[in-house]
Amino acid sequence: MRIVRSTFPTVIRLAVAVCFLPPGHAAAPPVKTQSPGFYRMMLGDFEVTALNDGVVAWPTATALPSATPEQITNCLSEMGLSDPVGMSYNALLINTGSKLVLIDTGTGGKLDDSPGFHGAGRLLANLRAAGYQPEQVDEIYITHVGPDHVGGLTHGTERTFPNAILRAAKSEVDGFLNSDKAAAQIAAAPDTVRAQAKAWLQFLAGLFAPYIKAGKFESFDEDLELVPGIRALATHGHTPGHTSYVVESRGQTLIVLGDLVHVGAVQFAYPSLPTSFDADPDAAIVQRKRAFQLAADKDYWVAGAHLSFPGIGHVRAEQGHYRWIPVN
Ligand SMILES: [Zn+2]
Repeated sequence: MRIVRSTFPTVIRLAVAVCFLPPGHAAAPPVKTQSPGFYRMMLGDFEVTALNDGVVAWPTATALPSATPEQITNCLSEMGLSDPVGMSYNALLINTGSKLVLIDTGTGGKLDDSPGFHGAGRLLANLRAAGYQPEQVDEIYITHVGPDHVGGLTHGTERTFPNAILRAAKSEVDGFLNSDKAAAQIAAAPDTVRAQAKAWLQFLAGLFAPYIKAGKFESFDEDLELVPGIRALATHGHTPGHTSYVVESRGQTLIVLGDLVHVGAVQFAYPSLPTSFDADPDAAIVQRKRAFQLAADKDYWVAGAHLSFPGIGHVRAEQGHYRWIPVN
């Protein structure tokens, strides 16, 4: 037997072997899911964990309606991307050593029938995969009340994070938690969208209600240290009370941008492009440039809610433009 095998040229033996493979040995079907979406790094003594809630494809022209086709094509091809571009939905978990702080909560799988949110809602699974339980979260800080940032606050009518104090800027939440202001907004809405406006404000109020009922909600006036090492930074524009957070430990600083940037591939190069998501586009542009310049000048870490996961990196300034350097 040994003599016979050795006299066969290798190529013929391989051909015979392939012919006699058992039937049904076809390629395995593609699985198509990603690995758990968490990314860990240290910032001084603080442990920072980026948590991915999902990735949703957006046509760039929809997100940046005033970008020229050339700007879009050039920027995307520079990054090896093509439309529609996958937009990450990220949140951040910070363990300061004495407090576990969650900044934004993902969609919670809510509004999953809407194309802008379909497929998100994975934050809780990724938080657990990262080694934490929702009961361990001590503090929740909200950048703003986009559904991809506050949807995960509840499951049903219950708090997802039963031991956490929820904090948000007063200017962001007054519009739906203050009944007079909510009523005024509904009254001011055009007839055609009044019912939608009312449903939206009720949806938001419902997310905060169980925390308020449990005495676990506090609003703040901006630019305030919330726990040692984390302070709020008013960056209004994307929404009326949009808030970024500055995290500092042992001389290292991270700015949590929230929604100051949506399409990193284009908006670092062209920070003056407004997005279709901004309530006050001009104010949002001012805040975007201010944050980019601050991060570039000081070499701060930056985290973006919609930058490609983990959405953490540095910013470089280059003659009126900026460049994104993702974390290794
Ligand atoms: Zn967002």
